[in-house]
Amino acid sequence: MKDILVVGSINMDLVINVDEMPKKGQTILGENFNQIPGGKGANQAVAVARLGGNVAMIGKVGQDNFGNKLIQTMNSDGVDTSFIKSEKDISTGVALITVDRSGENSIVVAPGANYEIEKKDIDKAKKLIEYSKIVITQLEIPIEIVEHTLSKAKENGKYTILNPAPAQVLDRDIIKNIDLLTPNETELEILSGISIKNEEDIRKAAQKLIDLGIKELIITLGDSGCIYVNKNTFKKYDAYKVVPVDTTGAGDSFNAAIAVGLSHEKDIDEIIDFALKVGALAVTKEGAQSSLPYIDEVLDFKG
Ligand code: ATP
Repeated sequence: MKDILVVGSINMDLVINVDEMPKKGQTILGENFNQIPGGKGANQAVAVARLGGNVAMIGKVGQDNFGNKLIQTMNSDGVDTSFIKSEKDISTGVALITVDRSGENSIVVAPGANYEIEKKDIDKAKKLIEYSKIVITQLEIPIEIVEHTLSKAKENGKYTILNPAPAQVLDRDIIKNIDLLTPNETELEILSGISIKNEEDIRKAAQKLIDLGIKELIITLGDSGCIYVNKNTFKKYDAYKVVPVDTTGAGDSFNAAIAVGLSHEKDIDEIIDFALKVGALAVTKEGAQSSLPYIDEVLDFKG
């Protein structure tokens, strides 16, 4: 029995630090090169495991060195990877990331195996869905797989979370099966079609999505914290104050913490406080999976 099932992307991030971004047609020398496990699905699964959650993942990699290494890393963090398929003749998802001196980055993603996940891969993992309490997914895999996952999860009476990143407009067949949606402000704007300039706009945009059938939303606001919305509630929570080093992984760790809190059936204030601590800790370290906090750090964090 796994409490939390993550269905999503698995990437190897290939990161080179440079002084300045290369111009079109230019070749430049970088400073250092790192291979960092990433992909929103994998990040969220690893974050859940580090927070003490019982987690399995459905995803796909290629039969190549990156794929083997990524599965191995997830395993060593305690993620059940038995339904991560490693397939011949396709390549593992890769993100080529260049970061310049000012911290600006430019990213090219080749989704590879992430876009080869098929409905039958989800159906084969039927038992994982049946035995989990919460199913969480994101938008770095084909939209029809997101739809299929949410629909199978709801058929089995599970609580569903969609972290709508990268954002795209969602149709009703997806929306009707979402219990909790966790956009940031930009994603909320794209999903609702309402331009967001202030809290009132957030209220309107969230209400529009609730009217379409989403039960709850948590809108993340970076260093301003988050807002929880359901039919009767609109409540703002402040972020914990930290000195940020790198915000990569904040959203993924926050989502994982929400899932862990929900799986322990805590009340919403307690769940959000836990996620705010986790998100704050994630921005104090560099990288995606390298910055995801462990439960002991969260319990020791006084804010
Ligand atoms: P990502 O950069 O990972 O895609 P995101 O845009 O999905 O992030 P954010 O809203 O940036 O998500 O961050 C998620 C949560 O992490 C916030 O709601 C907040 O609780 C916490 N967080 C992010 N940045 C900071 C910060 N600078 N200081 C404290 N907490 C932060």
